[in-house]
Amino acid sequence: MFLSRRGSLHALEQTRPSRFWARWLGQEMPSADSVGRICSRMDVSDVRASVHQVYSRLKRMKALEPPAHGLMQAVVDGHETTASRKRCCSGCCQRIVHTAAGDMAEYYHRYAVLRLVGQDLSLMLDAEPVRPGEDELAASRRLVERVLDGYPRAFDVLAGDAIYANTDWFKFVLGRGKHALAVLKDNRPNLIADARTLFGVLPATLDEPAGNRRRRCWDCDGFTSWPELASRVRVVRSLETYTVRRQLDKREEELSSDWLWVTTLPKLQAATQAVVNMGHDRWTIENQGFNELVNRWHADHVYKHEPTALLVFFLFALLCLNVFIAFYCRNLKPAARKAISMLHVAQLIASELYASIRQGPARAPI
Ligand SMILES: [Zn+2]
Repeated sequence: MFLSRRGSLHALEQTRPSRFWARWLGQEMPSADSVGRICSRMDVSDVRASVHQVYSRLKRMKALEPPAHGLMQAVVDGHETTASRKRCCSGCCQRIVHTAAGDMAEYYHRYAVLRLVGQDLSLMLDAEPVRPGEDELAASRRLVERVLDGYPRAFDVLAGDAIYANTDWFKFVLGRGKHALAVLKDNRPNLIADARTLFGVLPATLDEPAGNRRRRCWDCDGFTSWPELASRVRVVRSLETYTVRRQLDKREEELSSDWLWVTTLPKLQAATQAVVNMGHDRWTIENQGFNELVNRWHADHVYKHEPTALLVFFLFALLCLNVFIAFYCRNLKPAARKAISMLHVAQLIASELYASIRQGPARAPI
């Protein structure tokens, strides 16, 4: 269903007469209801073991190499899959929304997701549900504990957005022998103030073109303005300027984005450029990971509103995305990749399901 991007169990069910299923399963495909029911009773660790199997094979075949700076980065981020004001289950989180008709309860499911960022191949490794009443950091901690048990040497650095610039989180990551990296925003005001003062008087560490941008970076370590964290931290700033041509009057306008990251990575292990690249790579979980999963893979669809089934379907989506991306990027020759898009390959997979269906769905006589 995910690989052929069917988008619903009922769309999958329409392919039941396909001879592909008899050949592949050795029996008839179960009904949509049965697939949903079975997923709600599955052992989630079996699905996670399949994700691990794909990772191990890619690693063994040297298909998952770190970027040029030599450090493997894992990115953890939260993703909300579904929200409803009518339907809820025992795993639903709850929030109050203010509407014109008054305050209402809204139920939602959110996952902490971990993605491994390699040189030109990234993998979604695992997901953990945010439980009712807890925050994303609590779920992320459970997720990282499990990933570290299953993949102890898979990554060196653990990155996250501004909520991960958190004292307990940094202590936890350091305690597990990894380095932490997080976007620095207003939640650490003293550190930001000190860094901005210093960067205001120091010359840029790096001034170079990066794609269509001009990148000026400042990099200082030894900051003690995060006293709750016993160790000193390093702050890296990247001020990036670029020009856009306005469609209306064709005039060029200069825009800029100003990034700040806090990290425990020492300069000897990661140069300024490496930290900036890792900081930007964090976006791959948002841009390539979640956008792709939601828009192309229908991962946010509620296939069955039951906590285990929702998690199992989400993990299946991650697994299929990994297999598909690995196939597309590593199995297809560059010439084939140039000629056909990922969507085209997905349509070819779907066409195999439909090719052997001799009769379409039953129709009323004309
Ligand atoms: Zn629910």
